[in-house]
Amino acid sequence: MFDQLSQRLTGSLERLRGRGKLTEDNIREAMREVRIALLEADVALPVVKDFIKQATDRAVGQEVVGSLKPGQALVKVVHEELKRVLGGDQAELKLDSAPPVVILLAGLQGAGKTTTAGKLANLLKDRHRKKVLLASCDIYRPAAIDQLETLAGQVGAGFFRSERTDDAEAIAREAVSEARKQFADVLIVDTAGRLAIDDAMMDEIKRVHAAIDPAEVLFVVDSMTGQDAANTARAFNDALPLSGVVLTKTDGDARGGAALSVRQITGAPIKFLGTGEKIDGLEPFYPDRLASRILGMGDVLSLVEEVERKVDQKQARKLAAKVGKGSRRFGMDDLRDQLLQMENMGGLSSLMDKLPGMNKLPEAARAQMDNKQTRRMIAIINSMTPNERRFPDIIKGSRKRRIAAGSGVQIQDVNRLIKQHKQMQKMMKKVGSKGAISKLMKRLPG
Ligand code: GDP
Repeated sequence: MFDQLSQRLTGSLERLRGRGKLTEDNIREAMREVRIALLEADVALPVVKDFIKQATDRAVGQEVVGSLKPGQALVKVVHEELKRVLGGDQAELKLDSAPPVVILLAGLQGAGKTTTAGKLANLLKDRHRKKVLLASCDIYRPAAIDQLETLAGQVGAGFFRSERTDDAEAIAREAVSEARKQFADVLIVDTAGRLAIDDAMMDEIKRVHAAIDPAEVLFVVDSMTGQDAANTARAFNDALPLSGVVLTKTDGDARGGAALSVRQITGAPIKFLGTGEKIDGLEPFYPDRLASRILGMGDVLSLVEEVERKVDQKQARKLAAKVGKGSRRFGMDDLRDQLLQMENMGGLSSLMDKLPGMNKLPEAARAQMDNKQTRRMIAIINSMTPNERRFPDIIKGSRKRRIAAGSGVQIQDVNRLIKQHKQMQKMMKKVGSKGAISKLMKRLPG
């Protein structure tokens, strides 16, 4: 998400960055480009207008024109305005009321509610050490209830299934008493979605809401729907007091309009971003970090947190121990471990998004880092025998053909992988011999 917006914005600001002096005309012209970039990202028009007005007023005032480094001052103004539009400070979940804290999820069908219920349970369990119970009061799609039960099993959260199949409000009440009985800290209630907003649906969810009086009402919305996401959110907000929004599918090809429009249009803060189909694909939403990411300044803080959370420390130590002990020890299995770790972290492209300046890489270079490539490399290694993984030098003509056929790739792909592995072996030997790795190992916990 935000790739295009990010490139356009940095492009227009970059041109002014180096200038010693900025005039009002320069600034207005840059702001015209910013305006187009925002519109192209599918940000809602009222939000764009407000953004441009505030940013221009501040910039042509003393803040930029009068400053010593006007280019940087302009970037700062745009950064602060982005942060404001995205919601200002981070809005955290309200978890401090008496347990069970009830979280109600609302949204259209297919928005990602059920997936989000599972991800949220996972996050609350993992990071907040909460005992979580999940329940669904979708009386129209029995399959949705089963889906939630499966997710609960995956996460290790409790699941409540009602005997009733006809009354969403009654099911929600039962879920709350069950959560009390089990001394759950948090109860997450999933609700039925529809393909479009209709009155019957709104009435039902209003009744559910009144019956269980949740601490949080989270509206789950697909970011791919752009500024429409903000409009749907507004319709829900008229019916229910939303306490927050979860933007899903931000890993997809969305242009960012939803993220930039939701807060201004509904007044409800974005609390989480859904970043994939896997259970750990939910990130807390930080307006200032996202503003930095959009302006190509990277989001190193999130990256560091992610690495701490997702990288398997034990494997990292094992790998570090092999490095430097001579090139022979770093086999294909080790390369595969590394690739899998990368996958775990959302793939190379998700990491790249968070590094400063990466948005300036040409499209072609970025495409090379796509996640398909990682998966293909893993598939190739999977098609090798244990012996071939340990001693890749034995992989010659007929073995190559077999591996390529087994993993559904071309021989050139196998060749490329072998070459990359060789280069890594070489590099690791070099790094290892300088003692850098032993220093690094000392810093790893455990
Ligand atoms: P619901 O009808 O609102 O409960 O939607 P679901 O939870 O069943 O999700 C609909 C589809 O979207 C499923 O195929 C999910 O795997 C997918 N999905 C949900 N959240 C995300 C996300 O953040 N990223 C991606 N790529 N897919 C998602």
